[in-house]
Order: sequence, then C-alpha cells, then structure tokens
Amino acid sequence: MELQIKKFNPPFRCNGGIHYAINPYINCAFNCTYCYANRDDKIETMAALNHFKNELKSLPPRVVEIGTSTDAYQYMEKKCRLTRKIIQILNKHRFPILINTKSDLVLRDLDVFHEIADTMGKEWLSIGISINKLTDNRLDVAAPAAHKRVETLKKLLDEGINAYLRYDPVVPFYNDDETSIREVFSLFAHPATPLKRVTTSTFKPTSKKILRRVDRQLDLDGKLIRFYADAKWIKGTLFLPNEKVKTILDKVNSIASDYNFDVATCRERIYYCSDNYCDNIDYSRNYAK
Ligand code: SF4
Repeated sequence: MELQIKKFNPPFRCNGGIHYAINPYINCAFNCTYCYANRDDKIETMAALNHFKNELKSLPPRVVEIGTSTDAYQYMEKKCRLTRKIIQILNKHRFPILINTKSDLVLRDLDVFHEIADTMGKEWLSIGISINKLTDNRLDVAAPAAHKRVETLKKLLDEGINAYLRYDPVVPFYNDDETSIREVFSLFAHPATPLKRVTTSTFKPTSKKILRRVDRQLDLDGKLIRFYADAKWIKGTLFLPNEKVKTILDKVNSIASDYNFDVATCRERIYYCSDNYCDNIDYSRNYAK
C-alpha cells in the first residue's frame, strides 16, 4: 500500500503544532488497551514510497511525526526496515522528525539519528519513549517491557539524542499514585541521566468501549467509569473536568520537580513549564534550511 503523508493538527494540541503525520503500518501489534489503534486487526505495511517521495518535494519543511496511530518500531519493523527507510528519506529532504515509541528497536537506528544530528542539528529529531508503569503491564501487555523502555531511553540520552519521557496516559487508580510515578522518575534521577523533559497527560478515551475495556482490564469494577461520569466529550475525545486533571497532574509535576524534570502536558489546559513543548519540539520554529 502507498504511504500517505497527511497534515496533522489535532484539537487542543498544546503548542499549536501543525505538522505532518506518517503511519508506516496500519494497526499496531502492541495493542494497548487504552489506544484507539487497538483494533485486533491484521498489521498492514505501507511500503510503496514513490508517491510519498514525490509529495515531499512540494511540501514546506514542517515536523513529520512518524506513528500517530501505530508504533513505528513494532515487531514487523525489524524485518521490514520501513521506518528506517522513511527516516532516511525525510532527512534527505530536510524534514524534522518526531517519533514516539515503546520499542527498544528504535536503538537499531542510532546511526541514522546521529547522522541527522550531525547534518541538521540535534533539535531536528525528537524521540519520546512511553512508560506508564514500571511493574504492571496490564495496559500494554504486548509491548516491550517497561524496564526495556527505561534502558532504551537511557541509551538514547547517553548518545546525546533529543529524547524525552512520556509518562502517559495517566489512568486514575492505576498509575496516578506517588509510588508508581516515583518508581519511574527515580530511574532517571540526575546526574545519572540527562533527562530534562517529561510529557504527561490524563487518559482520554476516544470511545465508551475503550473506557469500559480499560476499567475491565484493571479489574476496577466500574470505578473508572464512575470517575469519568462528569467528563465531557469534545470532538470525539472524553476529557475529565479540569479540577480532576489538575489534582492528577499536580502530583506528577510535584514529583518531577524533585528530580529537576520539566513537565509538559499534552492536550490539557494546564501548563507547568513556560514552553510546554509536549513533543520536545518547537513547532513555531522556522525549519527551512
Ligand atoms: S504502541 Fe502506541 S499506537 Fe500502538 S497500540 Fe500502543 S499506544 Fe497505540
């Protein structure tokens, strides 16, 4: 199938980041319980790249996010090497790149990341590693284990890559407690690693089915569903009231400050650091070179 490059401007994006999205795969083998990409369908590969290459020639150089509804480094990538190819093409055409992943396979492409940093600058690439709980993988059973992701993020940081931690989604009654937050953050305590930024956000189901699925998976017996009873649907996404969001994220921010991490929020109306670059990228920057 032909790889598509599309404009990506979801509602409530924290820093107004109009950019492009590419999904090298359709569906996602990691199948996280809370994710809209979890459809239990077959994974398809978007390996025809000619149309994409042609399109790049006429597009202005904005950030390209690889994997908005799939993980670009899921298991199939090991064999296909499609994400790697796409990154090389994007770099050839001088497009800045954003990747969010749960996979240690991202380390395979360190050589390409260094090439980008050397030719275009470190800020040309941002890599977010998602870890939402260290000791309990019930919400992402099929993804690489959390401790592997910790090692992956540490390695990226050690290599000088512009990488950051995504502590999200924060799901009430699951990973919003001090112990869960601290056991992840403490692994990146200064000066052991140069982690600077943590991006966080509350769980925002995109359907009632997903909310029920998460509640069931966590054996919460309807507690999560009741907690979301006063949440509001906005453009197909369920947002908790601001007071609840603030209580949850104030805790994340307060613990992060013990480790000197900046906290950015993703699709919330609460901010803790002045730039709030949730993707560790400044979308207002002029990337023309
Ligand atoms: S890895 Fe990402 S895209 Fe894949 S199912 Fe999990 S949250 Fe969704």
